[in-house]
Amino acid sequence: MFKALYIDKVEDQYQCSVKQLDDAAFPEGDVIVNVEYSTLNYKDGLAISGKSPVVRRFPMVPGIDFSGIVEHSDNPNIQVGQRVFVNGWGLGEKHWGGLTQKAKVNGDWLLPVPDSLSTYDVMAVGTAGYTAMLCVQALEKNGITPQSGKILVTGANGGVGSFAIAYLAKLGYTVIASTGRPEEAERLQALGASEIIDRNTLSEPGRPLGKELWAAAIDSVGSHTLANVCASTQYGGVVAACGLAQGMDFPATVAPFILRGVTLAGVDSVMCPNDKRVKAWEQIAKLVDKEMLDTASTVIGFEQVIDIAHQLLDGKVKGRVVVDIKG
Ligand code: NDP
Repeated sequence: MFKALYIDKVEDQYQCSVKQLDDAAFPEGDVIVNVEYSTLNYKDGLAISGKSPVVRRFPMVPGIDFSGIVEHSDNPNIQVGQRVFVNGWGLGEKHWGGLTQKAKVNGDWLLPVPDSLSTYDVMAVGTAGYTAMLCVQALEKNGITPQSGKILVTGANGGVGSFAIAYLAKLGYTVIASTGRPEEAERLQALGASEIIDRNTLSEPGRPLGKELWAAAIDSVGSHTLANVCASTQYGGVVAACGLAQGMDFPATVAPFILRGVTLAGVDSVMCPNDKRVKAWEQIAKLVDKEMLDTASTVIGFEQVIDIAHQLLDGKVKGRVVVDIKG
């Protein structure tokens, strides 16, 4: 028997609770992993609360990523005893996810934990930190360097935002953090932000073009914020867009793109091909250190997950939440 967070629809009622399951309950997959750590992301909050139709199949075990040790493998590329982890691929949406003591998944989705990192470290980084790296690499791929100018990070106190700031600062960039929680300024500075702006300056409908304030941006907020971010990006700059914390809409004009040559780079972590993932995790393994992970993440136990998921949706959680499945 093993413990899992279990979402089901009973007589049209959405329910999420901790359940004891056995191996017979497992869905399809060729590798069984003893899960050591999982995480709580915005998407998990939506799945656990039922606030948004994230879950596409019932019953469902939420959790978009996990790490652990392989217990059983029918996949030639994965060995019993190997330290592995996974991000995305529809876990917690279409396939059972990581908020469980045991997971059965398609072994092709698993990556080996990099030698310099632990199963805890890869979850402290998690989907948010990996997405932040995909965003950094999208800026680099489009020609942005520390000499290009300042880089704006929106949703600064969130998981993606916190890691984006930390990576950029370590790579030598000057970072402006946009946040609705100015009281967290010290934390953002510790991560590497040089300047902090109030997110309200970006969240209302704005002009098609504004002052050129940054060379590039990493946006996890969407909506008016993304439109205003593009409008204030320097000539030839780049905006990596990965999130929708303010909204899914994009009420913008084409002006920044056709008059300033701004590039809007979309970033998806879920279906991202493995070669890009490996490249992102190679750079993550080089950049993260214990201090960064401690500043960016907090650890909770399995029993706290439902409560913290609601707090996360209310914007009360700072940085990353790692779930200690064994604890
Ligand atoms: P978090 O909940 O950890 O952080 C979101 C942050 O956005 C908050 O901390 C807050 O930062 C800011 N925020 C929240 N509400 C609003 C609002 N109404 N207006 C402006 N800012 C707001 O989430 P994550 O960092 O994990 O994810 C951020 C976004 O990125 C989510 O939309 C998520 O779905 C998306 N995402 C996308 C991925 C992809 O593959 N494309 C992968 C991972 C995440 P502050 O308090 O500093 O203002």
